[in-house]
Amino acid sequence: MATIAGGCLCGKIRYSAEAEPVFVGVCHCHNCQRATGGAFAVVAGIPEAALTITGAPKTFRDTGESGKAMLRSFCPDCGSTLFAAAEAMPGVLLVMTGTLDDPSWVKPGVEIFCDSAQPWVALGGEMQRFPRMIG
Ligand SMILES: [Zn+2]
Ligand SMILES: [Zn+2]
Repeated sequence: MATIAGGCLCGKIRYSAEAEPVFVGVCHCHNCQRATGGAFAVVAGIPEAALTITGAPKTFRDTGESGKAMLRSFCPDCGSTLFAAAEAMPGVLLVMTGTLDDPSWVKPGVEIFCDSAQPWVALGGEMQRFPRMIG
């Protein structure tokens, strides 16, 4: 079991879990680019039941490619994007790994939505690349 802990930039929202990540992946979709303000999002899928959250994130209801909801949670004070919950992936919370206290264990295995990756982005490693969603 890994100890997963992190929080937003201002520290008002914190989270922790004793859990094994279900997967770690890179998402190049436009909505993740917008939500993170960066070129891509790096997310770790954590069993929702294992996660303890303190503070009160605000949630924006985004829509994924499937048409299903993607609930993006962020700190209302500092704006850090913390989590995303995909209706298509019940029971799993996607934690934005940039908010981890110790991201040294993060090793993405997949890249998704490579079709909308910014043209200069070339990530190393042996990640499986998908043009859009997996499958
Ligand atoms: Zn904050
Ligand atoms: Zn995305």
